[in-house]
Amino acid sequence: MDFLPIFFDLKDKRCLCVGGGEVAARKVALLLEAGAKVTVIAPELGTSMRQFLDSEKITYQNQIFRPEMLDNCALAFAATNDEAMNRQVSDAAKERGVPVNVVDRPDLCTFIMPSIIDRSPVIIAVSTGGASPVLARLIRARLETLIPGGYGRLAKLMAGFRDKVKQRFKHPPLRRRFWEEILQGPIAEQVFSGQEEAARRALQKKLDSGDDNEMAKGVVYLVGGGPGDPDLLTFRALRLMQQADVVVHDRLVSQAVLDLIRRDAERIYAGKERDDHALPQEDINQLLVRLAKEGKRVVRLKGGDPFIFGRGGEEIDTLAAEGIPFQVVPGITAAGGCASYAGIPLTHRDYAQSVAFVTGHLQDGSVNLDWKALVKPRQTIVIYMGLHGIQVICRELIAHGMPASMPAALVQQGTTPNQRVFTGTLETLPDIVEKSDVKAPTLIIVGEVVSLREKLRWFEPTHVN
Ligand code: SAH
Repeated sequence: MDFLPIFFDLKDKRCLCVGGGEVAARKVALLLEAGAKVTVIAPELGTSMRQFLDSEKITYQNQIFRPEMLDNCALAFAATNDEAMNRQVSDAAKERGVPVNVVDRPDLCTFIMPSIIDRSPVIIAVSTGGASPVLARLIRARLETLIPGGYGRLAKLMAGFRDKVKQRFKHPPLRRRFWEEILQGPIAEQVFSGQEEAARRALQKKLDSGDDNEMAKGVVYLVGGGPGDPDLLTFRALRLMQQADVVVHDRLVSQAVLDLIRRDAERIYAGKERDDHALPQEDINQLLVRLAKEGKRVVRLKGGDPFIFGRGGEEIDTLAAEGIPFQVVPGITAAGGCASYAGIPLTHRDYAQSVAFVTGHLQDGSVNLDWKALVKPRQTIVIYMGLHGIQVICRELIAHGMPASMPAALVQQGTTPNQRVFTGTLETLPDIVEKSDVKAPTLIIVGEVVSLREKLRWFEPTHVN
């Protein structure tokens, strides 16, 4: 180990920064966040430093650096363009035993600055020992995605319970197991989703009751799995999929997304309408209730967003009635995913000021939309589940006043390596479906914006099949 990582308490400590430019300002910003009292020495100040000065966050001395300025300093930075000056600060600091960092000159430093992931009070510092700051930043970016934003709040909540838990579990291994369960379980998820009070109560209850079974109470997460590309999952969706005991999923959820489920989790296929093996909705609702009552952590994984033509509302309605805790995790809906990956902006200042999401499939198999409202000018229409009704849809839109030449697109399996996009007009769309053997899942987009694809297309997967 070339450097020993330590965490420095700088609260109300005097720190010196020689240099007034933007690089210096970034260091000063960190010092200020750590509560230091910062003095800046420079002939002039850049914009950011000036803002610090204006808001009275720093002390400014428009003077030439002198070694005595380091007296009583806890830490010093040199970030000037003047090589000799930087060296002078470094020498003087070393002489006085003041830790010093010279920006981009590891040889002049007695400490180096890590890349920081800040979930205060949780802080993660990454260093490559100066070998590659870019690599450190990349590692940092990875960790940022892995560590929920709510970890800081979680740590604060835990801090308030530390003594109580110590009292209750005298035996350290038991204590550790208790904390591990809390930190990876529903209570932590409550904190991440902003329900701190509920989490505090649940934690207190668990401690009071001494009932370890309480810990086993089930919960259901209704999770949006997005339109197909696994990179479009949310961090929360991924985390819950990797913690689940059981995942109940739809046909729409792509294999690439399913591959990210925890390996040991039980998987239950619930199908979807137009599918012989589909479970009726009522059975799915009951299944979720039963699994949760068995104490399982259930992820109900749905294609796209659970609240957009996903019957998510019905599923949690049953859960709510049964008093089962649940959360809803949004996903990227097919309209957003398919439009982006097809290069079709759904709104555009010149072509469309509104966008309507409609379903082209009613429970009784008919298509019965408010056609008049849909043919409004300067509106994009996105039709989910419209493939079977494509004839009726195009015919009715034209009959209600939309030009037969209105551009329209079909996006099949959008965002996946199998994506196929066809463009035409209201008049030609039904033929395209037939001739090109377009299959579900396919999204229909109708509106002037479709013509932008010609210029804006960017996602051209090479077909593997
Ligand atoms: N809750 C989902 C929609 C479920 S309805 C969401 O928010 O996306 C199912 C319909 O969504 C399909 O019939 C199809 O029209 C559309 N759809 C879902 N995923 C799609 C994809 N990857 N490509 C094209 N259409 C998709």
